[in-house]
This record gives sequence, structure tokens and C-alpha cells, in this order.
Amino acid sequence: MAEPVIAIYPGSFDPVTNGHLDIIRRSGSVFDTVIVAVLQNLEKKPLFSAEERLGILREVTGSWENVKVDSFDGLLVSYAVEKGARVIVRGIRAVTDYEYEFQMALMNRRMESSIETIFMLPSSEYSYLSSSLIKEVYALGGDITGLVPEVVESSLRGLDG
Ligand code: ADP
Repeated sequence: MAEPVIAIYPGSFDPVTNGHLDIIRRSGSVFDTVIVAVLQNLEKKPLFSAEERLGILREVTGSWENVKVDSFDGLLVSYAVEKGARVIVRGIRAVTDYEYEFQMALMNRRMESSIETIFMLPSSEYSYLSSSLIKEVYALGGDITGLVPEVVESSLRGLDG
């Protein structure tokens, strides 16, 4: 029997949006195991700490049996090898994502040729969504209902309090 395929879906998830969840769900339907890997040390100061981002992701993916949530720091390919992963999943929203993702994927392949990067498209209703846009709209008092899970909305409100 073929070995189970483990995929890593890495990101900042500051905070997780319904676009991310769409990619996690699609990945879970293709790969045996999906590890959602939260990048701990972001260059920019994150709005939510790594622990908060992990907690939110665990809560919203809790019912998906083949999805695990973890955090990592340092080189993604080293982390992927450590986890026995064959695949790195990245989401592509529009052509603007492509150039950066293309560079990263080829650099990662140069460092670790056993791992394939696979790009997935979200449902079109999420293709304009980003964590930074959510933070901006929320900060200006806009309605983000339906774009993020409820726990993200309540966590954002918690930060205001
Ligand atoms: P990063 O800082 O690594 O880009 P993000 O948390 O912003 O982390 O995104 C993680 C991954 O999810 C990236 O591949 C990004 O392109 C993808 N992504 C972000 N938002 C969406 C979305 N709305 N639909 C599909 N993919 C998305």
C-alpha cells in the first residue's frame, strides 16, 4: 500500500479567514493528513500571538479528523522533512500572489527536492480575502461577518476590550 501523504499548509493566520478554511478543507479532502503550520515569529508584529492563532485554528478545525494544527519557526522545508511531509500546500488568490509563491516554491525545491509545492484555489467568494484586509476593515468599524469564523470575530472584539 502507498504511504499516507502528509501535507503542510503553512502561514501566518493572523487571523485565520474563511479563505484559509476553504483551502484547509480542500486539502483535507485530497491528502491523508494536513498539518496547518503557524509561523511563530513574524517579521511584522502580529495582532494575535502564536498561542492565540494556534488556539483559534484548533477550535475551528477541531471536527476535521485528518487536520492537525502545529507551529514552526525557521526553514519551512526543514520542518516539513521533520514531519515526514511530501507536500506543501499554498493558496493562490489572484495573479498577484503568483510571483512570490513561484519564487518560494522554487527556492524550497532547490533546498529539498523531495517535497512538492501544490497550489490550490479557494472558492471565488474568498478570492479577495486576506488577513490584513480583515484587520483593516474591522479596525475601521466595517462588517466582517461571513468572512471569518465567529471565534475570530469574538477574539477581535476581545482585543478592543
Ligand atoms: P503568509 O504570511 O505565509 O502568506 P497567510 O496566513 O497570509 O500567510 O496565508 C497562508 C496561505 O494561505 C498563503 O498561501 C496565502 O496565499 C493563502 N491564502 C490567504 N488568504 C487566502 C484566501 N482568501 N484564499 C486562498 N488562499 C489564501
